[in-house]
Amino acid sequence: MNRVTYSVIVPMYNEEAVIEETYRRLKKVMSGTGASYELLFVNDGSRDRCPAIIRDYAYWDDTVKLIDFSRNFGHQIAITAGMDYAEGEAVIIIDADLQDPPELIYDMIAKWREGYEVVYAQRMKRNGETWFKKSSASLFYRLLRASTEIDIPVDTGDFRLMDRKVVEEMKKLPENNRFVRGLVSWVGFRQTSVEYERDERLAGETKYPLKRMIKLCLDGITSFSIKPLKLSGYLGALLSASGFLYLLYVLYLAVFTDETLRGWASLVSVMLLFNGFILLMLGIMGEYIGRIYDETKGRPLYVVREVYGMRDGDKPGRT
Ligand code: UDP
Ligand code: MG
Repeated sequence: MNRVTYSVIVPMYNEEAVIEETYRRLKKVMSGTGASYELLFVNDGSRDRCPAIIRDYAYWDDTVKLIDFSRNFGHQIAITAGMDYAEGEAVIIIDADLQDPPELIYDMIAKWREGYEVVYAQRMKRNGETWFKKSSASLFYRLLRASTEIDIPVDTGDFRLMDRKVVEEMKKLPENNRFVRGLVSWVGFRQTSVEYERDERLAGETKYPLKRMIKLCLDGITSFSIKPLKLSGYLGALLSASGFLYLLYVLYLAVFTDETLRGWASLVSVMLLFNGFILLMLGIMGEYIGRIYDETKGRPLYVVREVYGMRDGDKPGRT
């Protein structure tokens, strides 16, 4: 098998507005490297024309390959499938919407040639995204960093280059609720960053509404930390200690003075507060238990309808 040097993984979900331009830009950048490469598009259950467009490209362009999912499995799963099928010595993940400038791949390759095994792109600035998206993203990265033991770089998305060694390790990780950038940190190796300014989406709209961002955030935290589980222990200890002190105070009032404490309102608010705490903690436990349940089912991560542009007997898939 003659190995290609670079694999570029492009997950796409309803990206017909940008995909042709993405293909052109990537093509230009990758042919500029002078080495062999493949453009591996993963169609994550798009309902628009983008898989058809790529299928056409794959027909006459040998470097284009398409993995067509049977339905939408999510961005993280799509890039996982890309890594499963990629053949390159170095594997690059990039968004389809050109928010990650393909030209940065040259810088990544330069670092890889220096001997780094993971080169991730760190966002110095985000252009044209809403205030809400920027601040929630910033909060998310810092929260994640504070709650986990492994070193997950802040302001870093999935735009990165990985050496074959890293990809082989990634393929051994079976988990369903995947947070790929955390897993890449987890496998280790020599990692470095290149910096860039994140542009606006070329066209179309974000495929990460708030609900999906919250899911990604929870996946990130629960996959790499059990600190939230310990929270209930600490809070419980704190609350029962203060409850005990308050009890002493009430007893003191009853025995040594004529005063008694009154107040429905205070009673109700304390009850609501503490019941809220309890439910919150149950919810946190639920997040973990749900993920344990997901893992025990042992279902495959994704289902592929068809692959295009790959030679027969050359369809690696999951290990
Ligand atoms: N994406 C995907 N499956 C999904 C959602 C998104 O493959 O279910 C792809 C999408 O086509 C894009 C990348 O993931 O290439 C990042 O999505 P998007 O640009 O919408 O996220 P944002 O940049 O707004 O965070
Ligand atoms: Mg985007």
